[in-house]
Amino acid sequence: MHFKNILVPYDESDHALSALHTALALAGPYPEARVHVITVIPAGALPGPTLMGEGIGTAYALSNPASYEELMDSVVGRVRAEVDEAVRRSLDDARCQVVTDAIISASPVEGIAEYVERQGIDLVVMGRRGLGALRGMLGSVSFGVLRSVEVPVLTVK
Ligand code: ATP
Ligand code: MG
Repeated sequence: MHFKNILVPYDESDHALSALHTALALAGPYPEARVHVITVIPAGALPGPTLMGEGIGTAYALSNPASYEELMDSVVGRVRAEVDEAVRRSLDDARCQVVTDAIISASPVEGIAEYVERQGIDLVVMGRRGLGALRGMLGSVSFGVLRSVEVPVLTVK
């Protein structure tokens, strides 16, 4: 098949799940194809280590620097387990390779665009809307990705 590395940016929304199913339907018959299912955790959604000295979070961060790492690892691990579970339920008899991950980045758009570059992604399949879906045509992450990557982007409802 033409596409070897397909990225599904996954945010646990129904649209993202449809995108995952579409990507697996495309790549499923091809053992040489790889589907990457990635959730981006925006760094701003996490407590920052630099804030720790200033207030509420002080105690554990300063008395035990390793605990900040552990906190990050547990957040990433939890998100990653959710991605794994969605993939497990969707796999059916797909013969393609599947990799899952949760990555921390400044923003979902930045994380997705960097991943596309770094991993040689040749197609992005993503939801048209996400968890914030209330109204409108296209979510801000879909819109941002369309603007910032050079590869084809397929949006799925
Ligand atoms: P908004 O976030 O602007 O309120 P929305 O949530 O309805 O709008 P988007 O966030 O653009 O829409 O979501 C569209 C698609 O982008 C999702 O279906 C998913 O494929 C992808 N996506 C959104 N957020 C993330 C994220 N944090 N990590 C990975 N993929 C994401
Ligand atoms: Mg969203």
